[in-house]
Amino acid sequence: MDDCIFCDIVAGEAPASIVYEDETVSSFLTTGPINPGHLLVIPKQHKPLLSDLDEETGMHIFKVTMQMAKALRYSGLQCEGINLFLADGEAAFQDVFHVHMHVFPRFQGDPFKIDASWKNKPSRQELDKIAEHIRRADQFLQQ
Ligand code: ZN
Repeated sequence: MDDCIFCDIVAGEAPASIVYEDETVSSFLTTGPINPGHLLVIPKQHKPLLSDLDEETGMHIFKVTMQMAKALRYSGLQCEGINLFLADGEAAFQDVFHVHMHVFPRFQGDPFKIDASWKNKPSRQELDKIAEHIRRADQFLQQ
């Protein structure tokens, strides 16, 4: 991809504070951190959406995500907890269309907020109906 900032970082053509790198993934600090230590884990291959990734790369991204989350806890940075965040698609607030997992430290009183309502409580019947849609799609895709 010509105009992908993450591909430029992987190619060494854009600056980044890299914390981890191997053949498949790269991890570096985001330039717009929620808290100090906020990093991204990305596949080196340009893949816009999660569904574009092969399973093995996806598993590796999560493995490195776990590794980076652990490193944050031992880093000496303020870190009482960790959030993972992956925005998949524009409606989900994906801004750079190259898959990236956010890993960021959390602590009491930090500025991060999720503005969502958790009060919606659908009936079991509604939940079962929705689950059936997802099961069918999954079974179809696994064939
Ligand atoms: Zn890219």
